[in-house]
Amino acid sequence: MKIKIHRGANQIGGCITEIESSKGDKILIDLGHNLPEGDKKSYDKYENPDLLRKLLQGVSDVYYTHYHGDHIGFEYEIYNAGVTQHIGGLSLKMMKTLKNHMLKADDLREQATRSLEALEHFKIYNPEQTKTVGNIRITPYYVSHSAADAHMFLIECDGVTILHTGDFRDHGYMGNGLEKNIKANIIKKNVDVLITEGTMLARNCEKVPTEWDLQEQAMDVMKNHKYAFVLCSSTDADRIVTMFKATQRTDHKRLFVVDSYQGAQILNIKDNLDGIYKSLYFKNISKDCDKLLPQMLQDGFTMLVRNSQTFENLMEKIVPQIDLQQTAFIYSQFGGYIDESHTAFRQSTYDFVHKHDWKMVQIHTSGHASCETQNAVCELLRPSLAIVPIHKDSGTSFADLLTDNTLKQKVVTQTTSFCQSSGNEVEIIVN
Ligand SMILES: [Zn+2]
Ligand SMILES: [Zn+2]
Repeated sequence: MKIKIHRGANQIGGCITEIESSKGDKILIDLGHNLPEGDKKSYDKYENPDLLRKLLQGVSDVYYTHYHGDHIGFEYEIYNAGVTQHIGGLSLKMMKTLKNHMLKADDLREQATRSLEALEHFKIYNPEQTKTVGNIRITPYYVSHSAADAHMFLIECDGVTILHTGDFRDHGYMGNGLEKNIKANIIKKNVDVLITEGTMLARNCEKVPTEWDLQEQAMDVMKNHKYAFVLCSSTDADRIVTMFKATQRTDHKRLFVVDSYQGAQILNIKDNLDGIYKSLYFKNISKDCDKLLPQMLQDGFTMLVRNSQTFENLMEKIVPQIDLQQTAFIYSQFGGYIDESHTAFRQSTYDFVHKHDWKMVQIHTSGHASCETQNAVCELLRPSLAIVPIHKDSGTSFADLLTDNTLKQKVVTQTTSFCQSSGNEVEIIVN
């Protein structure tokens, strides 16, 4: 069998992993866009239809680990090529909610319409339920990530077992499921090849706070600021819970305010996830801002915002009525977007965050596994043949984060061919 890393071995984003059985069955895990460079959309070679067609030659199915744009983005073209696409049920709902919201913007309508057409034909997979493509068996397992619905895949093909982690972490609300899942379901499968993300290598293997830590940090801010605006991803279930819980724990009367789009995503999350997610409760400011505003001013509020015209208009109404001394703006996304020295810097986000003379506070943690967690996963699984790092920056070395020398030697960085003892050959091609 053949494993081909088309993209991701030397970049974060635009992930594509190809698995081909000896009988010629071929699937892709993720096919996402290159991440934008700051405010600009970045070049992606698969926007060239000929190159995309070449990539999809012989591919019958694409399995997406989650809905982030660096893992999914060509769904219409793939649908048009007659390839079947699979994603988790909650992911599909959240994508449809996003695309329906995009229909309202003139410049995004065409793209959203095409995407919705493709999404109508998506197939859903369920955690721990195996799907088969010819000779390839794929079993998804839930993982914690900054997306509400992310999965790793156990892939069995030609007698070889592969674990593809997708993006994951263990410091979110469902993070302890990682070790439990690996111990209960994965170890017994004897993983031969581990394909894993290495995002945090580029971030100096920094110590990562948990979502619970962020709750405490947010509470400290809210205690001293009757009003708080929060800029975070509308599809990051954990971060929304963090801000909601901090709001409730600060003062049970304080309002948690969102707009219709954020509210629709929160309802998707509530309907599909159990535990802490079920407690989410919000007020919808899109319904009637003038009616809600007096209560917001009286009881205090935490309001999720986005950098959009809708929120510019809302804030023009709200800001003149509040004391900015009592107001905080919590920036709860990747710090690089508002750091002028970073390649990801986005001027429009920076301007939005610094628009008024409020107290700006950064409260954030990564959606990705720390180097410590990566090492622990590798030690638990001890793959027999290879560790293939993807979703990592060039110039970073995955072997450096491993403490065990035998495991270090298993890290694949360039085209390598392996032979299993049973005689099954695995060819790993890293582009
Ligand atoms: Zn992701
Ligand atoms: Zn990613």
